Amino acid sequence: MPTRLTIARNLRSLRTAVAAFRKKRETVALVPTMGALHRGHLTLVKEAQRRADRVVVSIFVNPAQFAPHEDFGSYPRTFDTDVAALTEAKADLVWAPTAQVMYPDGFALKIEPAGAAKAGLEDKFRPHFFGGVATVVAKLFLQVTPDVALFGQKDYQQLRVVTQMASDLDLPLKVVGIPTVRERDGLALSSRNAYLSAEERSRAPMLARVLNACAGRINRREPVEMVLEEGVTELTQAGFAVDYLEARHALTLAPVASLKDGPIRLLVAAKLGKTRLIDNLAV
Ligand code: AMP
Repeated sequence: MPTRLTIARNLRSLRTAVAAFRKKRETVALVPTMGALHRGHLTLVKEAQRRADRVVVSIFVNPAQFAPHEDFGSYPRTFDTDVAALTEAKADLVWAPTAQVMYPDGFALKIEPAGAAKAGLEDKFRPHFFGGVATVVAKLFLQVTPDVALFGQKDYQQLRVVTQMASDLDLPLKVVGIPTVRERDGLALSSRNAYLSAEERSRAPMLARVLNACAGRINRREPVEMVLEEGVTELTQAGFAVDYLEARHALTLAPVASLKDGPIRLLVAAKLGKTRLIDNLAV
């Protein structure tokens, strides 16, 4: 029987809806998002449907993961379009708490992850970020109590941090990472791509092209350090302000010097005009 998309805005209606699934012994998947949904998010929803009977999508632009100078205020908010897309995708439940529901007056907890969260990548440029992410994702896991939660490999360091956090807290769920969904020209889909001017948009795929080229050269045994230095030069010449382009161990995110050090993931963050883009690729 087709079911309609329920929208829960407070904990009571969330718990009522999840309890109804559990009463029927249905399994539950969670897809956490900040809204402004695109094909990447909808791919997570589709994969979630393969892995569980019911799919809950959370939409919450989390103030705790933005620094005061970042784009919390201007982050795209397209709730009605998101709900229409999730209805079309046959998701079961949208969890859309207000900031007051998530962080009531007197809220006093912060989860401060270490390990991959201190790898010197995103954390170096956004020091507040993973504390905000780990705290809200732990809350989402405890609110929704899913069997499985799906995250994009697009935010690779985040995926490692959340996986470790769930394991460290013995949370009874599986965290699954889904490959990055890209535009035809290779640009990783991101809600922030909407910030790019037409001219910046035409240059943006260079980020993925450089990652691909670097991965190919490292696989051909060219020295990692030299390959990355040349990658940074190429991006800089194309007008990117590069925060980092690094080769790291795919699981620990520890620095690696060569292919022997082990499965390698390339990670990049760079600004094009005012827009900060991130991407990553397996070697
Ligand atoms: P966001 O709304 O940007 O916080 O992203 C919500 C989830 O969607 C995160 O797990 C992201 O990693 C994932 N995601 C964002 N962009 C993509 C993409 N291009 N491909 C796959 N997953 C993505």
